[in-house]
Amino acid sequence: MSAELEAEHVQECRDWQATLAANGWAGITWPSEYGGRGGTVAQARIFAQEESRVLVSSGVFMVAIGMVGPTIIQHGTEEQKNFFLPRMLNGEHVWCQLFSEPGAGSDLAGLATRAERDGDEFVVNGQKVWTSGAHFSDWGMMLVRTNWDVPKHQGITWIAVDMRSPGIEVRPLRQITGYAHFNEVFLTDVRVPVANVLGDVDNGWRIAQTTLGNERQMIGGGGSGVGFKALAALARSCGRTEDPVIRQELAKSYTRFELLNWLGQRAKARAKAGLPPGPEMSIMKLAVSERVARDGDLALALEGPGGMLTGSDALDDGMFQQLFLNQWSVRIGGGTEQIQRNVIGERVLGLPGEARPDKTEPFRNLPRN
Ligand SMILES: Cc1cc2nc3c(=O)[nH]c(=O)nc-3n(C[C@H](O)[C@H](O)[C@H](O)COP(=O)(O)OP(=O)(O)OC[C@H]3O[C@@H](n4cnc5c(N)ncnc54)[C@H](O)[C@@H]3O)c2cc1C
Repeated sequence: MSAELEAEHVQECRDWQATLAANGWAGITWPSEYGGRGGTVAQARIFAQEESRVLVSSGVFMVAIGMVGPTIIQHGTEEQKNFFLPRMLNGEHVWCQLFSEPGAGSDLAGLATRAERDGDEFVVNGQKVWTSGAHFSDWGMMLVRTNWDVPKHQGITWIAVDMRSPGIEVRPLRQITGYAHFNEVFLTDVRVPVANVLGDVDNGWRIAQTTLGNERQMIGGGGSGVGFKALAALARSCGRTEDPVIRQELAKSYTRFELLNWLGQRAKARAKAGLPPGPEMSIMKLAVSERVARDGDLALALEGPGGMLTGSDALDDGMFQQLFLNQWSVRIGGGTEQIQRNVIGERVLGLPGEARPDKTEPFRNLPRN
């Protein structure tokens, strides 16, 4: 996508989000005092189904509304809720997630972006990476290290940063799909008000768990990739529906699709009962990863030698090639498959934890690259 097309898309998302807010359809399950509708999960689902029938998107607000908003609702002060929540819902503030760093992805608690207190502000120095949408975001939720003398999980703080603050440099990174969807973000003496801390200083790991749970739910429930019907249609148009091996693969694809639907129902039942996303979200994230991987492979197998073409040379303008290439985004972003398996093993199945000798030592003493 060119920079112009992307800017157009961002504006369309802002406009649609503003329209939703103006008509009382933004934040259906959020409290009405912060601009939401105070409705139920079932109502939100019905609205999402209806919305998906028309060609509109508020996709650039996914981080804000899917991840930051629920975190602020759970942990924010009244001032933070009153300032941030309505501005997400009305299309004013697009957010990004400044968590990962070059040395801290799966091992997120190993992050080393430094925040030092100076009166009512923190002075932030460091580097973030893989930050989706940083180049068009207004705000970022950032994890910073505020204490080096305690074990790594204990010295982290969750803070909101205005992306237009002096000292922030955003550099795009191009992905295998050809799009520059994410970025490196360099922070040099960036001043952030202490009032922007969510929860307590040094207690950000707990807050981050809320954010990450919501992220897994969002990715798991997002139905990434194309639906089964599109794959079946592709099999028909490629004349492959009589091939017994392909028929088996299509049956497996359908099974994956249905399994995800049922896992989604389970997540919605949990939300309906008022429970926050739990470690079961890792099961959904893993199931979505498997689906995009297997379906991406199947789509190109269906196309045969034509699967090697891309863009306008390929069938459907290369939609299935994009699906194939995009599988790694889904499989890595929001926590890799291996990490989801660790979470499931330890927190769902109760298996013994991985050996983590770095869990008790002050962060300052840990070897870092
Ligand atoms: C499309 C996309 C968008 C993203 N957007 C954002 C964003 O907006 N904001 C943000 O903060 N981050 C973002 N990320 C970053 C993402 O969260 C990290 O890439 C992810 O957590 C993995 O970290 P890493 O890349 O450092 O890989 P590493 O942690 O270095 O992992 C490398 C490999 O080692 C494996 N591994 C690591 N530790 C273990 C272990 N303990 N047990 C078993 N295997 C292990 C991993 O599974 C992986 O295969 C995005 C990533 C992608 C792909």
